[in-house]
This record gives sequence, structure tokens and C-alpha cells, in this order.
Amino acid sequence: MSTPISAENKPLPVITDLTRPFWTSAKEGRFVLQKCGHCGTFQFQPKPWCIECGSRDLAWTPAKPTGTVYTFTISRSVAMNFPGWEAELPVLMCLIDLDDGARLYGQVTDCAPDKIHIGMRVEVHFKDISEDAGIPKFRPIAGT
Ligand SMILES: [Zn+2]
Repeated sequence: MSTPISAENKPLPVITDLTRPFWTSAKEGRFVLQKCGHCGTFQFQPKPWCIECGSRDLAWTPAKPTGTVYTFTISRSVAMNFPGWEAELPVLMCLIDLDDGARLYGQVTDCAPDKIHIGMRVEVHFKDISEDAGIPKFRPIAGT
């Protein structure tokens, strides 16, 4: 399957029945993750079962839109292979430990590359990427 491309020349997610609520909620400005009705674990990426207890009692649930940078990489070249990324270089890609427990891969914006650091507090904001989908991104929480 070829990767769908956005109007901005960036790759779009391949949306499935399993992942659709994540993308459509982001389009509406809501940050949701799967939460287990049995043990209470929030998880990402979407799966048909709970990564902690195996239950299939999962519901898309609003999650705290805040977290901490676990680690990051700074892309300073066009190595990401999509021309749409060039306008944003350097791009800060991070693993974020969300306050509700899941770890999410995401872009940190509104931050100078020499300011990003492990342990930085960040919050979600959203960007529309297609007719059907938005994507959560992160930015530093002012004053932290
Ligand atoms: Zn569970």
C-alpha cells in the first residue's frame, strides 16, 4: 500500500476502524486514548486488547493533554523524505510520557532546538491534516 500524502506534502496516517477515533477526535480538538475498563490503563498505540491485562474492554476516553519529554531527536535535513517537512526543519520528534501513563511519539513545535530537553513539560495542541483527521502535536508548557 502506498502512503497517502497530504496537501502539504507530508505522509498521512492510514486510518483503520481501530485507529479512526484517535484521528477524528484530534480533528475536533479532543485528545483521546484507549482506556481499559478492567484495569484502568491508558494505552497507545491502539490495539484490540489491553497491553496490561489483555482485556478487550477498551473505550476511547479523554486523556490529560499533558506530559513530559522522555527522549527526542532533532531532524535537520530532508531525510524525512517528504518535501512538506522541509519548511519546518529542524523538526523535533519526541517520545512523550503522558501524564495518564501512555508513551506517544509526537512532534514538539514552538520550541527552539537548543531548548528541547528530556524532562520538559509539554501540552497537546492539534493540527488538521485532512478532511477526516487531525494530529496531536506538543508544545512546551509556558513557565515550566
Ligand atoms: Zn487492562
